[in-house]
Amino acid sequence: MDFFEKLGKKATETFNSAAEKTNRIASETKLKFKINDCKSKIKDLYQDIGKIVYQKFVLDGNLEIKEDIEEQLSKISDFTKQIEEYEMQILELRDLKQCDSCKNKIDRSAKFCPECGAEQPEEPAQEVEIVDGEEEVNPENEEEENSTESVDEEASSEDNKE
Ligand SMILES: [Zn+2]
Repeated sequence: MDFFEKLGKKATETFNSAAEKTNRIASETKLKFKINDCKSKIKDLYQDIGKIVYQKFVLDGNLEIKEDIEEQLSKISDFTKQIEEYEMQILELRDLKQCDSCKNKIDRSAKFCPECGAEQPEEPAQEVEIVDGEEEVNPENEEEENSTESVDEEASSEDNKE
C-alpha cells in the first residue's frame, strides 16, 4: 500500500511540475511577444521622427523640431521602460535576477554575484507579477480539464487583442 501511495504522490508531483513548467514557458512566450511588439512600435516612432525631421527641414528649412517630436520621444521612453519591465519578468520566471553592479544574469538565490562578487540584497518575498493575473493554476484544483480550458481561453483572448 505504502508503495502505491508513494507512486501516486510521485505522479502528482511530476504532473504539477510539468504543468508549472508549461505555464512558465507560456508566460515567457507572451512576454517575448510583448517585447517584440514594443520594439516594433519604437521602430515606427523612430521612423515618424525621421519623417518629421525631413519634412520640417525641406518645408521650413529649419530643424526647430522639439515640439513636433515630443510625443514620439516620450512614447519611445515609455516603450523602453516597458521592455525592461518585461525582461525583468522573464528573469523572474527563470528564477534569475540581474546583479545590481555588473548587470549579469545570476541565480535569484545567490548571496554573492558569481561574476563580480558583489553582495546581493536580501530578496524580499515579492509578488511575481504574472502577465495577465488569472493564469496561475490553483494547486488545490487538480482537475486536468479545468486547467487546460483556462489555458485555451487565455490563448484565444490573447489572439483577439489588437
Ligand atoms: Zn555582479
